Amino acid sequence: MPAETMEDLVSLCKRRGFIFQGSDIYGGLQGTYDYGPLGVELKNNLKAAWWRANVYERDDMEGLDASILTHRSVLRYSGHEATFADPLVDNRESKKRYRLDHLLKAQTPEVLRLLVLELQRDELIYDATSRRLPFGIAQIGKAFRNEITPRNFIFRVRELEQMEIEFFVLPGTDEAWHAQWLETRLAWWQEQGVPRERMQVYDVPQADLAHYSKRTYDLLYDFPTLGFEELEGIANRTDFDLGSHSKGQDALGVGAQVMDNPDSTARLAVQDPESKRWVVPYVIEPSAGVDRGVLAVLSEAYTEETLETGEERVVLKLRPQLAPIKVAVIPLAKNKTEITDYARALKRELQRLGLGRILYEDTGNIGKAYRRHDEVGTPYCVTVDYDTLGQSRDGSLDLKDTVTVRERDSMAQERVAVAELSAYLSEKLRGGLER
Ligand code: ATP
Repeated sequence: MPAETMEDLVSLCKRRGFIFQGSDIYGGLQGTYDYGPLGVELKNNLKAAWWRANVYERDDMEGLDASILTHRSVLRYSGHEATFADPLVDNRESKKRYRLDHLLKAQTPEVLRLLVLELQRDELIYDATSRRLPFGIAQIGKAFRNEITPRNFIFRVRELEQMEIEFFVLPGTDEAWHAQWLETRLAWWQEQGVPRERMQVYDVPQADLAHYSKRTYDLLYDFPTLGFEELEGIANRTDFDLGSHSKGQDALGVGAQVMDNPDSTARLAVQDPESKRWVVPYVIEPSAGVDRGVLAVLSEAYTEETLETGEERVVLKLRPQLAPIKVAVIPLAKNKTEITDYARALKRELQRLGLGRILYEDTGNIGKAYRRHDEVGTPYCVTVDYDTLGQSRDGSLDLKDTVTVRERDSMAQERVAVAELSAYLSEKLRGGLER
C-alpha cells in the first residue's frame, strides 16, 4: 500500500533527513526545498537510473549538459521572450522587488515577495555528428518556474529539476515514435517501483495543446492527497524547435508556425536518405520532473506494517537501485573496540564495491537501528557481534568471521561468511542497481 496522505511523507522526510523546507530558520522560502543527506542520495539514484536507461542502454542517444544562461536570441526565437518575460521592478525604499505585470494588475505585493525569472532551457543543440535519424539527446538540470502558488510539498516548486529527452525523428515517423516513447517511459517508471495501475495516460485535448504541439501525453500518477496529477509530459513538438532556430526556413519548408529568423547561422536540417531532400526533424520530448519522481517513488515505497508481535513499523520498500543507503554495517556493542574496528573495516571493504553508499551505523541499540533503516529503505543490515570475533558464549569458533545479514522487507536474518559477503551483497543488490 502506498502512502495515504502527503503528510505521512512530509513527516517521514523531515524526521529522517530526506527533504526540508528551504530557508527554514528564517520561516521558510515558499516553493523551495533542501534535500538532506538521504534525499540527495535518493534523488541522485533516480537521476542515475534515468541516465542509465536513456543514455547507456540505448544506441541512439547521447548525454548533454548545456548551460542555463543562453544568448537572448535563443529565448526570442523559441518564443519564450514573448510568452514568459517577467520584467521586475525594485522599490529602492522598501528593498522589495515586484513583477511589473503584477504591479499593473495591482495585486498584493507581499505575495510577490520573491520572484524567480522563468528560465526555460530547451535551447537546441544540433551538432553535425555522424549520427543518423532517429537519435536523441538527454539532459538533467535545474529549471525555474515562476509558480504563483507553489504548494503540495515538492510537487509544485519554484526551483526544480527536470530529466528531458529531445528525440529527433523524420517527419512521418513521429507518431509511431511518440507512441513508443510513451510505452518506454511507462515501463521505466514501473522499474522504479511505480506500478502501471497507479499511473494514467492523459491524451491532452487538441484545444489545450501548446501551438507547437501536435499531440501531448501527460503521464499522471496517483499522488497521495492530490490524486492523479502530472509526473511527466511527452510531447510531439513537430518541427517547431529546429524550424524556429534554423536559417533558411522558407527553403526548408518548415511546417510549424515559426518566427522569421534572420539571426541563425545554422541550417538545422538533415538529408532524408531516401528522397535526398533536406528536412527539418520533428522532436519528441519526454520531460519528467525529478522532484515529482522522488515524491512518486517515496509514496509507492511507503508502507506501514503491523508485525506478528503487534509492533508497528514504517518501511520504505524502495527498489535497491534507488535506496539512499545500500547496506548499514552495525557493531553489536558500541564500546567494544574489537567489534567496532571489525565493523569499520568491513564498511570500508563494502564501500569499495561501488554499490552506492554503505553506512557505518553505531547509534542506538540494534532494534532501533533496524527500525531506522527500515524507515529509510536500507535493503540490508549487516551486524558484527561477538560470534564474528570468535568469542561465542559457548566458546565455539563455528561462527568466527561470519555476520548476520538482515533483509529489509522480509526481516529474515541469515548468517553469512565475511569472505563471501561482498559477492553475496553484490549479487543481491546489483540486479536492482543495473536496472
Ligand atoms: P503542470 O501542468 O503540473 O504545472 P507543466 O505541464 O507545466 O506542469 P511541463 O512543462 O510539461 O509541466 O514540465 C515537465 C515536467 O516537469 C512535469 O511533468 C513535472 O514533472 C515537472 N514540473 C513542472 N513544473 C513543476 C513545478 N513547479 N514543480 C515541480 N515539478 C514541476
